[in-house]
Amino acid sequence: MGPGVMPMIEQLGLLEKFLEVSKENDVVSNFNEELQLTSTIGYTELAQRNGYPNYIISRPHLYDLFYSQLPKEKIHMNKRVVSIEQEEEGEAGGHVTITFTDKTTARGHILVGADGAYSAVRQSLYDQLHQQDKLPLSDKEEMPCASICLVGKTGPLSTEKFPHLLEKYCRFENVSGANKPYTWLTFCMPDNTICWMVIEHLHLMTNRTDIASNAEWGPGTTDAMIDKVKGFPIPSGAEGLTLADVINETPRELISQVALEGKFFETWYSGRTVLVGDGANIAIQDAIVLSNYLYNMCDSKPATITRAFEGYHQERVASARQNYDTSNRTRHLFRQRLVNGFIRFVFKYIPQMAWNYIFDSFYGDRPQVAFLPLVPDRGKIKAFPQRSLHLNDPPS
Ligand SMILES: Cc1cc2nc3c(=O)[nH]c(=O)nc-3n(C[C@H](O)[C@H](O)[C@H](O)COP(=O)(O)OP(=O)(O)OC[C@H]3O[C@@H](n4cnc5c(N)ncnc54)[C@H](O)[C@@H]3O)c2cc1C
Repeated sequence: MGPGVMPMIEQLGLLEKFLEVSKENDVVSNFNEELQLTSTIGYTELAQRNGYPNYIISRPHLYDLFYSQLPKEKIHMNKRVVSIEQEEEGEAGGHVTITFTDKTTARGHILVGADGAYSAVRQSLYDQLHQQDKLPLSDKEEMPCASICLVGKTGPLSTEKFPHLLEKYCRFENVSGANKPYTWLTFCMPDNTICWMVIEHLHLMTNRTDIASNAEWGPGTTDAMIDKVKGFPIPSGAEGLTLADVINETPRELISQVALEGKFFETWYSGRTVLVGDGANIAIQDAIVLSNYLYNMCDSKPATITRAFEGYHQERVASARQNYDTSNRTRHLFRQRLVNGFIRFVFKYIPQMAWNYIFDSFYGDRPQVAFLPLVPDRGKIKAFPQRSLHLNDPPS
């Protein structure tokens, strides 16, 4: 979590609790397979320039923080959406109905689909738009997959074996394989645990259907990937450690293998349904801006809803696109092809000052919730103007 979402955490009064369960990250260190440091990216000036540092927090801790703020009766667990239905707009105003796997339904004026990369809400909405011939071609294409990833979080570790766990800042260490299509990284969490991730870069772009139909992909493949990667060396801790030293300390249920997919969808809303996400910081920023537009609505008529969704899309699309392009480029950087090797070489010589300018453009987006007390715009570099903070301002 970085400067782009921390103002909202502060607005919610959660900053103190957030700091208790997160760890500040001030530098990302890149190593080759001989564990020689090849480059670093420093975040030390982030707080001064962009208002807040970068933090590492585990997902359950973050969820607990948000969950603690919500009235319990507003949350319904174990409900999986299978389809959505948007009613024709009538005199009484239309509605949208969702159906869950347990055959129950829920009905409302607006549906916000925040259900991740494989959003059932998006799928259902797109199916309807496709039938009406209103879905752009690019939104019909399957999501490409460039890599497969093995992730895990250890239990508490011995600080004798991993003394850096006691350091104030989180060590974030990234190793690029020599002549093998893998990168692997480790970073430490505040509870003396280490998160680790191994990314296998696929030579060819593929997609979920291809992966699922590959005979090698199935429950046994996680163990096969563990076997393949456990001898990879890691820079953290005592000398001579390998990924096996963290994998063996990771409860099996905290190890997952996932295909890392992504694409930029053009259609964000239609009728009474709107989508938010994907991207951890991006999803939260989307939610902030969308809620500002929803809060400002004076009724639930179709035109009012469309105006709100349109405003949200306009305010977010450039930033979402920039984020998507940046993470795409970063992914390519660590792939093994010759041209990417060259990019990595150049990358090594990018001075920290240049990184700071890149961060300024990346972290200029620091949206706040319009209907909560605002927090001061911290940082030397001002936040980008935020339209949804001024929806009620008289026209100038
Ligand atoms: C292995 C891995 C590591 C990552 N590491 C990082 C990282 O270190 N930092 C970072 O910033 N990002 C990371 N990401 C990316 C980040 O997890 C996502 O970008 C982010 O979670 C997207 O948020 P979201 O709210 O759109 O979707 P999600 O976080 O996926 O949330 C979707 C929610 O919807 C629920 N849901 C799904 N389908 C349905 C349905 N049909 N009905 C009802 N509910 C449903 C899910 O249970 C889930 O709770 C990582 C992703 C992966 C796969």
